[in-house]
Amino acid sequence: EALNKILDIKGIIRVFCRVRPFLEMDRRRIRKPISTGSEKILVLSGGTRKEFEFDKVFDQEVSQGDIFVEVEPILRSALDGHNVCVLAYGQTGTGKTFTMDGTNEQPGIIPRALKELFRQASTVGESLTFSMSMLEVYMGSLRDLLAPRPSYRAYEPVARCNLNIQTDPKGNVEIEGLTEVQVLDNAKARWWYNRGRRARSTSWTNVNESSSRSHCLTRVTIFRHGNGTEAKTEVSKLWMVDLGGSERLLKTGASGLTLDEGRAINLSLSALGDVIAALRRKRGHVPYRNSKLTQILKDSLGDGSKVLMLVHVSPCEEDVGETICSLCFAKRAR
Ligand code: ADP
Ligand code: MG
Repeated sequence: EALNKILDIKGIIRVFCRVRPFLEMDRRRIRKPISTGSEKILVLSGGTRKEFEFDKVFDQEVSQGDIFVEVEPILRSALDGHNVCVLAYGQTGTGKTFTMDGTNEQPGIIPRALKELFRQASTVGESLTFSMSMLEVYMGSLRDLLAPRPSYRAYEPVARCNLNIQTDPKGNVEIEGLTEVQVLDNAKARWWYNRGRRARSTSWTNVNESSSRSHCLTRVTIFRHGNGTEAKTEVSKLWMVDLGGSERLLKTGASGLTLDEGRAINLSLSALGDVIAALRRKRGHVPYRNSKLTQILKDSLGDGSKVLMLVHVSPCEEDVGETICSLCFAKRAR
């Protein structure tokens, strides 16, 4: 309740920042160029210091559970009938997938959200039901991750161009032909979710490359069935999005991305940034049409919807340039 009020006061967009812990492979772990407060992050690079302020900053030791506590209010907004977007943004390797998917031992936002939705549904009886879809956006093409017959072959460019994005007169976005499965309980939802994740990784020859080259979108559609004679079903959407790596082109060469792939990701991320900035300014024109990503999310980024951006940064000295870019992107949204 109280948190929902805060969400309303602060407008539709909230931005959280998460700093990844040091990993085994991080070499210069002694010098940490970052320090944080609960709503501040300070980056020291060379002789300059840059400070950023967000709605919340999570330092390295913050657990998946602690983060979910802060994400929960936005889930409640979805149950109340708002369309919601949770977006994980950041350089490749900073923990976007860890935050959204997590591991079996440390589940992330998506599995926790599914569990929480079903918990809520069980407290209100029959009146809440859910369906799920998952898709991948890669170089402007859409791929259905829950399609009945997943192709376990390597990614073939031609096979994934078959989904069209439509907007109905009320402004609702529909993705033509996208598989939508009814999920009756958490176990079923998890089964589909794992299937979607498998379909995502098996479509790539090298599993490690997949996340950096595409956006992975999970949608839960929430149906609230009214009772009584004039029963009306209200529908809202919860999008949980693991965005493609935000690193700039110069660096993408080093991480094995082709120029075109890097460019496609950068274009759609900057289109997303432009849309969010326009919503922030509350100006008339919002440039949704500039990318597939923003077309898909159009009815969940605008009026009446709630957006939570989770910007991820590396704790390492050598990533400071990218860290500052990511924080600047996030600052623009706020
Ligand atoms: P991204 O999806 O942004 O490319 P990943 O989620 O794959 O990044 O994270 C890169 C690596 O760091 C993975 O091995 C992941 O398990 C690990 N990692 C990221 N964030 C955390 C965290 N908060 N706690 C523990 N390990 C993490
Ligand atoms: Mg990833």
